[in-house]
Amino acid sequence: MHGVVVVGAAGRMGCRLVANLIASGELDLVGAVEFAGSPFIGQDAGLVAGCGECGVKISDSLEQILASGKAEAVIDFATGGVIEAAQMAVRANCAMVIGTTALSAGDRAELKRLADEENGRIVAANNMSVGVNLLFKLVKDAAAFLGIDYNVEIVEMHHNKKLDAPSGTAVRLGEVVCEARQWSYDQAVRNGRSGMVGRRPAEEIGMHALRGGDVVGDHTVIFSAEGERLELSHRASSRDMFARGALLAVEFLLGASAGLYDMQDVLKLK
Ligand code: NAD
Repeated sequence: MHGVVVVGAAGRMGCRLVANLIASGELDLVGAVEFAGSPFIGQDAGLVAGCGECGVKISDSLEQILASGKAEAVIDFATGGVIEAAQMAVRANCAMVIGTTALSAGDRAELKRLADEENGRIVAANNMSVGVNLLFKLVKDAAAFLGIDYNVEIVEMHHNKKLDAPSGTAVRLGEVVCEARQWSYDQAVRNGRSGMVGRRPAEEIGMHALRGGDVVGDHTVIFSAEGERLELSHRASSRDMFARGALLAVEFLLGASAGLYDMQDVLKLK
């Protein structure tokens, strides 16, 4: 059994990670972390996750858990402190799986530095689902095959508590289209439309973020031309498939050399 720590353990994703880790035969939950001052500190992580007492209390110190030497990997879907956690994990020779979205360019540069200069083994991916990662590949092929006559629009919908927009997955879908068509993301992507926006340029990707209710995550990429429309869609109905993807990423990193990887590497889709 390989010891794994979950950071952000009381969050929506953290709870599903805890539950899936407890149910997994290969990986063992050895620590759970929340921010200092969280009302969940000291509570049993399994009870918080709704899957029964597991004997792991939620702590505010990742450093102390890593110092115990029981952990081989850290999974972090916390909405804060991700880079500090990655630095601690790498320095403790632990694999690091990051699901948190909306990382800045500076954050990503630091993850790359940790991989290159401090031998970190890191997977960072805005979407850990197997289906979405296959969608990235399908969208890449469609964007290249269909050519510029096919206008691209991206529509995503998430629950009403989501903090960032457009979603990290929608951004990645936009990047995939731009890479396939050799466009600049910043120039091509237009976030929403309002008012007298004029005719739609061909080199444009309309990006639309819908919010409401308890939607786990829907993404559709629409390719529209004269006379036909192709829509590639993914709908998540449970957070468990993100959690299962994160566990696959841990297993991948346990046998990997130093590097900054994404789910396309984990799933061998490159
Ligand atoms: P959430 O708000 O329910 O949970 C986040 C948790 O992180 C909270 O419990 C919060 O207290 C905790 N936290 C914040 N700062 C912390 C710190 N410094 N140390 C420890 N814990 C801290 O959010 P969520 O819906 O679970 O989503 C979390 C993140 O995961 C978001 O960025 C979301 O976009 C992303 N996400 C990624 C995927 C994926 O597949 N990569 C899937 C779903 C969500």
